[in-house]
Amino acid sequence: MWQQGHRDLTMPRVPGHEIGAVDEQTGALYTIWPGQSCGKCRYCRDNRENLCDEIKIIGFHSDGGFSSQISVPKNCLIPVEHDIAPQLLCFAEPVGCVLNALSAARIQEGETIIIYGGGVIGMIAALVCQNLGAVPLVIENNEEKITRLQAFSTETGIIICKDTRASDFDLAINTCNSPAALGLCITKLCKGGRLCYFSGLQKNSSMDSNLLNLIHYKELQIIGSYGPKREHMVAALVFIAKQYAKLSLLIEKIITPEDVPGLMQDVLSARPLKYIINFQEQ
Ligand SMILES: [Zn+2]
Repeated sequence: MWQQGHRDLTMPRVPGHEIGAVDEQTGALYTIWPGQSCGKCRYCRDNRENLCDEIKIIGFHSDGGFSSQISVPKNCLIPVEHDIAPQLLCFAEPVGCVLNALSAARIQEGETIIIYGGGVIGMIAALVCQNLGAVPLVIENNEEKITRLQAFSTETGIIICKDTRASDFDLAINTCNSPAALGLCITKLCKGGRLCYFSGLQKNSSMDSNLLNLIHYKELQIIGSYGPKREHMVAALVFIAKQYAKLSLLIEKIITPEDVPGLMQDVLSARPLKYIINFQEQ
């Protein structure tokens, strides 16, 4: 978003759509579904409110979690009824996005899954797949990133590597914005396999039609996904409570708002794991 913008991002804007909040009077914790849907259009009526014709997203259409104050509709507040540390609540939105995508992908036990992109979202996708009884493999071309993920890989048993000679995967997921990675997803699938088109691609790039023709020859299914439904963020809290220790290994550091400007170059390099900003006064 910083470098290329986003279809739903209106400027000027304070971003931030992965938010945990605390009620200072009661200590109650909340995470925030960042969508505001109309409740009336065909998509809302069809329980697909993330596709609402009138969707407004906190941090995209209105200022988000990096503001000193935000106002959100009550319906966006999701109470936390599990034992989760406040900083882990920032995982509810990305985990919700993965649950939205993978619920549509209907994963079966024992299926083999290849994931391109070893960022935090790729790791969350791998962890969700593993919990559904599938066998994920993550491909990441940055060796420094693979090294950073060593503790997560050891703890979960999820393999993260630069490349693989294996093919015929049942499902492929792109969790990075590279068109080349999406092409590799297509080549690595078995006939009749499913492509989970998760990440949007770099804008205005082209793709080789010979690659796209493999969708035709192999009778591949394509499953698009965008954002989480509210119910997926509720389910994400259950997942986070269970996978607390493993998800904690994806946190690079808890930082203050003042640390952010100095870390932006590092964030844009895509090498670090997840920075979480603590806005509570120390
Ligand atoms: Zn709607």
